[in-house]
Amino acid sequence: MVSTIPHHIEGKDVPADDGRYLDNVNPWTQEVTATLARGSVADVNAAVEAARRAFDEGPWPRWSEAERSAALHRLADLVNANADVLAAAEAGDMGRPVQSARSIDIPRAADMFRFFGDHAALATGETYPSGADHDAYVAYRPAGVVAAITPWNHPLMLGAWKIAAPLAWGNTVVMKPAESSPTSAYLLAGLAIEAGIPRGVLNVVQGLGSEAGQALTDSAGVDRITFTGSTATGRRVAQAAAGNLVPVTLELGGKGSSIIAPDADIELAADLVSRAVFNNTGQVCLAGTRVLVHEDIRDEFTSRLVARAGAWSIGDPFADGTTLGPLASAEQHRRVRSYYDRVEAEGGAVLCGGPGEGNVFAPTVVSGIDPKGTVAQEEVFGPVATIIGYEGDDQAVTLANDTAYGLTSVLITDSVARIRRMVPRLRSGTVWVNCYQVRDLRAPMGGRGASGIGREGGTFSREFFTEPQAVFIA
Ligand code: NAD
Repeated sequence: MVSTIPHHIEGKDVPADDGRYLDNVNPWTQEVTATLARGSVADVNAAVEAARRAFDEGPWPRWSEAERSAALHRLADLVNANADVLAAAEAGDMGRPVQSARSIDIPRAADMFRFFGDHAALATGETYPSGADHDAYVAYRPAGVVAAITPWNHPLMLGAWKIAAPLAWGNTVVMKPAESSPTSAYLLAGLAIEAGIPRGVLNVVQGLGSEAGQALTDSAGVDRITFTGSTATGRRVAQAAAGNLVPVTLELGGKGSSIIAPDADIELAADLVSRAVFNNTGQVCLAGTRVLVHEDIRDEFTSRLVARAGAWSIGDPFADGTTLGPLASAEQHRRVRSYYDRVEAEGGAVLCGGPGEGNVFAPTVVSGIDPKGTVAQEEVFGPVATIIGYEGDDQAVTLANDTAYGLTSVLITDSVARIRRMVPRLRSGTVWVNCYQVRDLRAPMGGRGASGIGREGGTFSREFFTEPQAVFIA
């Protein structure tokens, strides 16, 4: 495994311009396992200039969609072939169990390169019949240099999600991974070169958000910004984008609801909620942590969820059989702990779970919490399910929509009428009915309100990462 993680600019490993490095800490052992380049304005400028050269002078934007798709398929093959080392990078950086990364995150990342490569290669555009004198059509031109800023909770999977579409549409990319999960993006940049993607097409700058991230979003050399991260940072990114009048998509925080109707299959509901709230130690923007349960089934559902919470196997992310790792950092542990400590003051009772040794946080079920309090309203980003009872569908919808966020909702019911009545009223970018975290890369992904601006996926990504051009030929 790498012990110093440099930038990757124009196909080469590049040290930090001013020689400054940050520590990369393993959240399970809490030991420093590597150092990473602490990107400066000079580093960011070098990466943006490399991406600009590759866009203006290099072959990538001029290749056919089919040629780019073939290169992205080769990259996908290499991602899968290197799944062990990539999974180990996620486990060491942020505590994702190596088995989960190996079986879920890494193959999903590979699939994204294949999907967006194919999507661009197979896309068609509109033509406009304009009488006998003109032919008219729309062409989708690559936008230019794309800044892609990613969080640490699923580093490679969310990184692939941010860069596969812009690459497929002929853009060049400067990627800034989170400072606590630098390794997989660095490895990916090397694999892109091995896949025959030209130098300068995918550049990676490491470093702090307030330094490298801010410099990247402030850069006048960037044509698009695609950002995934917290709502607070999203606001800063939007301000920087406004300064240069650069289109931006923001995939931000979430505080999703899981509504369990009185006719729900309670076994299914407990299963789905356990996955929706505890998977990845709760560090998932899509998590349905506000668990709204009809009073008729509340007790039974609660006892089944508590049983499920205890069934996760918490441990060393590298160990066989571990299904939940620690929280990703000591800072993250402090944050989750601060919400946990407020539970009683906000009217709730802890039924199971809580902080453990080091960065461990066991799956936690809280009942009776004030729906207006901070624990029920703010994104905890840890394995904490808050159970809130309700009595009728209208009340459930009101409670579900009573948050600043609007990313995802889960509805569990056997009634088609209830689905048709409730789903349109749920203020969220995605609604899962009797399922959780089903993804389709053609579908729009994004949120409302504090969960962000814009959508990516399928044609939604094409609209964002290209400049549609109307062409009229006499
Ligand atoms: P964060 O906002 O702290 O950091 C995200 C990225 O932004 C990191 O790379 C960071 O270095 C960078 N950054 C920080 N300050 C910056 C600045 N001023 N300018 C530019 N870049 C800056 O978020 P995080 O803690 O890494 O990630 C967790 C958050 O991400 C949660 O809120 C979670 O809900 C959200 N998230 C959203 C989605 C989604 O699809 N909506 C997916 C995953 C995570």
